[in-house]
Amino acid sequence: DTVYLNGEYMPLADAKIPVLDRGFLFGDGVYEVIPAYAGRLFRFEDHIVRLNNSLREIRLDLHKTVAEWQAIFQPLLDSGKDEYIYLQITRGCAPKRDHGFPEHVVPTVFAMCSEIKPFPGRVTGVKAVTLDDTRWQKCHVKATALLAHLLLRQEALDQDCAEAILVRNGYVTEGAASNLFAVIDDELITPPNSNEILPGITRDVILELAAANGIACKEDVIAVEALKNASEIWVTSSTREIVPVIELDGQLVGPGKPGPVFQKTDQLLQAYKQSLA
Ligand code: PMP
Repeated sequence: DTVYLNGEYMPLADAKIPVLDRGFLFGDGVYEVIPAYAGRLFRFEDHIVRLNNSLREIRLDLHKTVAEWQAIFQPLLDSGKDEYIYLQITRGCAPKRDHGFPEHVVPTVFAMCSEIKPFPGRVTGVKAVTLDDTRWQKCHVKATALLAHLLLRQEALDQDCAEAILVRNGYVTEGAASNLFAVIDDELITPPNSNEILPGITRDVILELAAANGIACKEDVIAVEALKNASEIWVTSSTREIVPVIELDGQLVGPGKPGPVFQKTDQLLQAYKQSLA
């Protein structure tokens, strides 16, 4: 049970990944599974092409030739068996947990080889069911599979923005790692909880404080066009609290500075925190 990890071969039991690895923290990585018959990798180049596409899509800079991958896998293979290589690559281990891509971090590369056992259902046939395709659609779950969030946050950072405000079917949902509020026609609005957003605790606190202090507020859908005309936009989260957005897609939001509803709500939030301290 020899495996490959970051340039070295070792027993599986000795292969360890630090907890700050972005694969563990965020699911920030890709993988391949490549069958090998009698020690020969099957459709190897196709698998490497697909791997390189996956790496490019998640903007993970790792470039190895087919021959280099071959040299890594060959010592793991046993020519007497049907086997498969499991290859996983993550963005590596950064000094701290942060959505934005780390600089100068070496990707983690792990490969192991397992035997392919004949699947009995191939002979007998199997039963199946139809289900709704809900993949990447359970945003209400605070799941560690954050790859899509990371790519969106990084795209915002690349455009010198602190956050990406996400749009689905013409309506804004939330930020890449925050909930969204807007002041439209003097009313504070946040999208309703659904499978499309994380039910933020900060969001709940703001709704409670607004209701208790006479700030007109409601949970309602917000069309992108409506957001573009909002007098205030905020993104909210536990670690950043309420962050006013003063520019959206290069256009000033209201007069381009934190607005009065923000000032009032932030005061209420600070006072609420104090009251619990
Ligand atoms: N949406 C997403 C996608 C988040 O990751 C977060 C938290 N970082 C939030 C909303 C805000 O939730 P909370 O106020 O509970 O921190």
